[in-house]
Amino acid sequence: MIHKYKYIILGGGMAGANAATEIRQHDSEGTLLIITKEADKPYHRPPLSKEFWTQADYPKESIYYSINNDKAIDFLMETTVKKINADQLTIEVDNGEVYQYDKLLYALGGAPKWIEGPESDRVFALRTLEDYRGIRQLTDRSKHAIIVGGGWVGAELAAGLKMNDMDVTLVFSNNTLNEKRLPLALAEKFHQRFVDFGVNLINNAKADSYRVVGDKVCLKLEDGRELTTDILILGLGLQPNVDLAKAAGLEVGNGVIANKYLQTSNENIYAAGDVVSYPDLIIGRNRFEHEDQAEHSGQTAGRNMVGMEEVYTHSAPLSYTDVIDISIEGVGEMSRNRDDEIIEEVGNGYIVYYLNQGKPSGILTYNVKVDMDKARDILANPPETPGELHGMLKPL
Ligand SMILES: Cc1cc2nc3c(=O)[nH]c(=O)nc-3n(C[C@H](O)[C@H](O)[C@H](O)COP(=O)(O)OP(=O)(O)OC[C@H]3O[C@@H](n4cnc5c(N)ncnc54)[C@H](O)[C@@H]3O)c2cc1C
Repeated sequence: MIHKYKYIILGGGMAGANAATEIRQHDSEGTLLIITKEADKPYHRPPLSKEFWTQADYPKESIYYSINNDKAIDFLMETTVKKINADQLTIEVDNGEVYQYDKLLYALGGAPKWIEGPESDRVFALRTLEDYRGIRQLTDRSKHAIIVGGGWVGAELAAGLKMNDMDVTLVFSNNTLNEKRLPLALAEKFHQRFVDFGVNLINNAKADSYRVVGDKVCLKLEDGRELTTDILILGLGLQPNVDLAKAAGLEVGNGVIANKYLQTSNENIYAAGDVVSYPDLIIGRNRFEHEDQAEHSGQTAGRNMVGMEEVYTHSAPLSYTDVIDISIEGVGEMSRNRDDEIIEEVGNGYIVYYLNQGKPSGILTYNVKVDMDKARDILANPPETPGELHGMLKPL
């Protein structure tokens, strides 16, 4: 038997939840199914590496999307989508059941990159609530954690675990923490703050593999060194989940390729969130792994699945981190042409303009709040010369 739905959303993450909200907003009747691998209904992921560790009284249940309570939405939980038959407008899940759609959303996010080593309940990547629960359970009865990868999530978790009385070692491949994203002078400040906070930093080090010995994990670095710990957390970045799209014949590059309506190369299938590569109106075709992008692209895709033909205009999505006493926000591309950047000191903070061929391609703030919509305007309508950027953004 084939189960029929007007809308099917693959992936119960942040993009999927936002698409479902918009579909219900504009079509209260059409049958809607969300399929997700997870045991938890859609929730907001950013607190998993922040408030869950830094605020003892944080209301954890507040992370769930309210759409979860909509009785008119069906969920298939702990279910893995195995195949999309784009010609027949059907999908197949792991128990062999087949579901038919009129419009499909591909919002499968990405899979954490891994290194060689056996499956173990002491080795994690922090992607899901389930991962958080596993890490929390172990940290409550362990002393030492190693985190590999100095990106936002790795750094946030390192600080968070430290605040929870763990000894924390953060292993990362560059010389200075976050030097790829921040101008060197700010990366050095960021790095030093972690040193002062008591996080043990191991720089210029790449993880090779790990082995589990009793209740310890031994991490082997590429230079041959071995580090032993109670918990290993890998923050090595994400691989977009494109395999099902590729097998279904959709156009795939660095992500699932979509047009300005977030429609894939198949007219009945839309894509949103971390997995979609789309033509950003300000910075060109791109794929982002940020909350702002997941939520807005999900919303536009949802409206277009209902038939609204709306161009995705939420360009240069915002990324942010809040760690120790540092707050960073950015729009656009933060790493291109890093020798070419303007740093403005504003009070106790900084505004950074990243330049690409003389034009700003990204704007980042460090411990200062500015109007990020104005920052987007600057990227969309840059001044004639980079010198004119000075003073364009004022602290709020
Ligand atoms: C700990 C953490 C902290 C973060 N902090 C920030 C932050 O501070 N700022 C920021 O901008 N962004 C942050 N992010 C990134 C942000 O959460 C992501 O950009 C966002 O979740 C992407 O949404 P998505 O719906 O595309 O993917 P996801 O939310 O990952 O959802 C994808 C869903 O698809 C499911 N799935 C995958 N394959 C299958 C399959 N075959 N069958 C069924 N289901 C499947 C997955 O299980 C998952 O539920 C953070 C992410 C994490 C993990």
